[in-house]
Amino acid sequence: MTAAPLPAVAVIVSLDAAVIEVLVDGFGLPKANLFVEMVSPDCVVDGLAMLHEARHKRLVAPWRLELVDATGRTHQVVATADRDGDRLVVVAATTPAAAKAALREVGPAIDADVQARLQRQLNAASADDRAADERALMELSLTNNELMGLHRQLMSTNAQLQQLDQHKNEVLGMVAHDLRNPLGSIGGFAGAIQHQLGDDAPPMVTTMLQRIERLSGQMLAIVDDLVDVSVIASRQLTLDRGDVDVADLVMETVETHRAAAQQKGLVFVVDGIQAPAVVSGDERRLGQVFDNLVSNAIKYSPTDVEARVQIGVVADDDNVIITIQDEGPGIPADDHEGIFATFYTSRSQPTGGERSVGLGLPITRSIVEAHGGQVRVDSTLGSGSTFTVTLPRHDPDLGTDRHPTSLAR
Ligand code: ADP
Repeated sequence: MTAAPLPAVAVIVSLDAAVIEVLVDGFGLPKANLFVEMVSPDCVVDGLAMLHEARHKRLVAPWRLELVDATGRTHQVVATADRDGDRLVVVAATTPAAAKAALREVGPAIDADVQARLQRQLNAASADDRAADERALMELSLTNNELMGLHRQLMSTNAQLQQLDQHKNEVLGMVAHDLRNPLGSIGGFAGAIQHQLGDDAPPMVTTMLQRIERLSGQMLAIVDDLVDVSVIASRQLTLDRGDVDVADLVMETVETHRAAAQQKGLVFVVDGIQAPAVVSGDERRLGQVFDNLVSNAIKYSPTDVEARVQIGVVADDDNVIITIQDEGPGIPADDHEGIFATFYTSRSQPTGGERSVGLGLPITRSIVEAHGGQVRVDSTLGSGSTFTVTLPRHDPDLGTDRHPTSLAR
């Protein structure tokens, strides 16, 4: 077995830097007439300065140079030089140890005194390197300690944040829950007063009572969403599963919203409904999904044209796929993920004075994913939007905890 070449060179050059002899060449340097042809263009000045110093002051303290081999690869080296009569001896290597080994290889080709001086110089360089290594090690261990400290701090801040987040969810859930009943009562009282007064009520009073009923209904819907958000965020969404015919459920949702759609001059086109399309799921929660998507389609559809909302349900052996397509303003591509995050509202605005707080879609996605399904949007600005829900007929992870609920933020 032949030993790997030493990563070192030893070269004898004339006092004006012409190469006289290459004694050791572990890098495969190109054939050069001048020493500076062996170093990278960036190091020519340094190389010449080193030789100049060797010529006048004899022994040179180690210099950092960059050698270029015949293939063009560069090698960072530490180099030293000494004067040997009317010639200069240059030893350069990637480490002082390799330079010393190269010097031993040169043997009697150079004067013994020169060799001893160069040896001492390289010993000093090794000691310098060792000291530098020790300093670097010390700095590294200090940095490491600092990092460990920061890591501990981060862990404790993280734990605090998790606690605060949990606390926030509890408060959110509590407040929302406590607002629910009074809000329901306010709407109920307004309805009861209207009923009592009947046609005797002055038109102004009827209008006010209607507004109270409508606004308290809107607030109740927001409070319900907030309750859902706190339930989902605290991973407490549980599904009350049974066989659900999705085709029936979608048709029911359409009927619930037909009046609102007509009021806005919209046409519902229900096509491609394949029945039965049964999945194992929570009927109330899935109803909430279709309610959100259909009401969004109505909410963002234009009112100045006879726009269509097209709804389809198709089923195969594995999945039931529900599409809700509208002719609204569409959603810019860079919002397609964002709209599923809590409290995110895109640039499209409701067209009939409805409200948008950005809770419907995150809740929708959480419910669909809890069923092992997916929801996605296809939309380009100005060309409407299509929301597609894919529900597996038989969720293979049913009964496991593989669909833990969470909310994007
Ligand atoms: P909200 O229930 O409060 O309306 P969502 O989470 O359902 O909020 O919707 C988030 C945002 O996504 C809305 O603010 C709206 O900009 C956009 N969006 C949702 N559905 C549609 C749609 N069919 N057409 C256009 N934009 C929509």
